[in-house]
Amino acid sequence: MSDATPRTNFIRQIIDDDLAQGRHRAVRTRFPPEPNGYLHIGHAKSIVLNFGIAQDYGGICNLRFDDTNPHKENVEFVDSIRADVRWLGYDWGECQYFASDYFERLYGFGVELIEKGLAYVCDLDAEETRAYRGTLTEPGRDSPYRTRGVEENLDLFRRMRAGEFPDGARTLRARIDMASPNINLRDPVLYRIRHGVIHHQTGSEWCLYPTYDYTHPISDALEGITHSLCTLEFEDHRPLYDWCVQNVSVPCQPRQIEFSRLNLEYTVMSKRLLTQLVEEGIVNSWDDPRMPTLAGLRRRGFTPGSIRTFCERIGVTKSDNLVEMGLLESTIREDLDAAAPRAMAVLHPLKVVITNMPDDAPASIEVRNHPKLDDMGTRELPFGAELFIDRADFAEEPPKGFKRLIPGGEVRLRNAYVIRCDEVIKGGDGEPVELRCSVDPDTLGKKPEGRKVKGVVHWVSAAQGVPAQVRLYDRLFDVPQPGAGGGDFRDDLNAESLRTLTGCVVEPSLGSAEPGARFQFEREGYFVVDPDSAPDAPVFNRTVTLKDTWGKQQTKRG
Ligand code: ATP
Ligand code: MG
Repeated sequence: MSDATPRTNFIRQIIDDDLAQGRHRAVRTRFPPEPNGYLHIGHAKSIVLNFGIAQDYGGICNLRFDDTNPHKENVEFVDSIRADVRWLGYDWGECQYFASDYFERLYGFGVELIEKGLAYVCDLDAEETRAYRGTLTEPGRDSPYRTRGVEENLDLFRRMRAGEFPDGARTLRARIDMASPNINLRDPVLYRIRHGVIHHQTGSEWCLYPTYDYTHPISDALEGITHSLCTLEFEDHRPLYDWCVQNVSVPCQPRQIEFSRLNLEYTVMSKRLLTQLVEEGIVNSWDDPRMPTLAGLRRRGFTPGSIRTFCERIGVTKSDNLVEMGLLESTIREDLDAAAPRAMAVLHPLKVVITNMPDDAPASIEVRNHPKLDDMGTRELPFGAELFIDRADFAEEPPKGFKRLIPGGEVRLRNAYVIRCDEVIKGGDGEPVELRCSVDPDTLGKKPEGRKVKGVVHWVSAAQGVPAQVRLYDRLFDVPQPGAGGGDFRDDLNAESLRTLTGCVVEPSLGSAEPGARFQFEREGYFVVDPDSAPDAPVFNRTVTLKDTWGKQQTKRG
């Protein structure tokens, strides 16, 4: 990794210790997404941790789909998860699994638990089960079905599988301890009946589905996972995790270790809320460039390397915190500053006509693609008597400190001549539509004689520039913690999270840039070519501004 941040963390220390004590010979981890949505930057933290550990310890990281809740899952999500993990730069080789691969064996372990007197079929409905469970301060009460005999339990469990009972009529529960201070151990449900769902992997084969808390530890054990890394909300589930792997005949006993999940400012990470954003059309799709999904970040122009670096920088700890969006933005800025070729794009074109074009003026100017990297080479930028500059680089009544073009004033066209604005032509609304300018012929690649010209502006040839659409993306929410304080998170949406500019003009070399190609538009920011582009009709997404301007905007607004 390019980043100098030390990679060690408390989980790696536990692993080092386990290896030193001879508890394992090799390390095996897994990344276990539920295919009920697209992966987001929080998942990236878990991917980088799990795959990163496997890489560094010469071990293996499995990709396992935790597909026990078919109702909200589908193959589109499975495919997107595979694509996104690959895009982040990780490879699971042959080691892709589905929890549903284990349905038959999980059923067998259910039988084993019944035979050992450790599980029973319970006829309480969902509401009754809740009522019997007790509260944090009161112990639960035993279900009246807790003392059912083994034979009867085996028969009922078999008939549950055979589809003889309707949804909710019966569950299989672990027989642990209804008085446990840990509610997760109060005879948790292991199996529920679900008729009529078509599972994306097993079709209509099953009407009996195992719960996550039962499936996850056993899947880990069946795959020989040594360290099962999960987020802190599972800490209270760990005793149940251990109970499962200790009481069924599995080949190994993985160790669950919890770490804090990534929370990021100005966005939401819950799949429920992300699904809502997509389904209600608040964003265009899962890969909308404003989404914190990996697909959205990719379309926004983020590089996989910048996301890995970000995940390394935030580190892995046990304490919950909220990471600044600025950290993610500065990571991609750094990456693109080093790697993105420079280009000229005028977002709000204002025509400049040069009235005294010298006879020896070049038809094009050779410019460097990157100020520091010679390897990136140079390109020819067409030059001509009609150019576009940005509307914002001209002011009739300049604010204090304005260093760009004003009537009668001078400015340098980047990489070209110094021009002076001699005349402003206005449209019906009094707005300037064209500037008549003259060049100082002695200033091509040279300083002007006897005066200083401070301002430099970018430009594009009017004759050869290519029309483009530019989408200026900003943070999706206006506040660091959307919905905090109990309000509806949608009330915190940033109304200006997307501004679409049509009628922009970019230098001709960008007309045929491939979707996914990233550039620094000089003086504007970092941009990526969107898949909506067509030949000679490119669409660019702004990845990030050149500098962190958010703080400034906030004060302006506030
Ligand atoms: P949901 O929002 O539906 O509860 P989830 O975010 O936990 O789901 P999973 O698909 O179950 O999504 O997550 C797969 C793995 O990614 C889990 O191991 C989970 O702990 C981890 N993970 C999910 N969100 C984050 C996050 N914000 N930070 C770190 N790890 C996360
Ligand atoms: Mg989950």
